[in-house]
Amino acid sequence: MKCNNCGVEIPYGSRICPTCGAPQTQQPTTGYEQSYGQHVSMKDAGTGLKVLSFLFPIIGIILWAVKRTNAPVAAKSYLKWGLYGIAATIIVNFLYLIF
Ligand SMILES: [Zn+2]
Repeated sequence: MKCNNCGVEIPYGSRICPTCGAPQTQQPTTGYEQSYGQHVSMKDAGTGLKVLSFLFPIIGIILWAVKRTNAPVAAKSYLKWGLYGIAATIIVNFLYLIF
């Protein structure tokens, strides 16, 4: 963060600027929100949600859209299983038309 008075870079959460001594009124919230927003999960998707994405591809696509920032690995899984679901639906319909 930067000093309100002189603009020098000071340690995050400082109450007083070490350079000019000016009191810092800025609330230390932005740093917390930034680090919270940058939290990224590399965990894979749960089996239940994969099956759900497979049966209802639209759910997989929605989950992918929602999770792709914070959980890119899980989001890819949802999208993948959603696409499998679409492919399976097309194949089943195709077979139904033939037989
Ligand atoms: Zn200062």
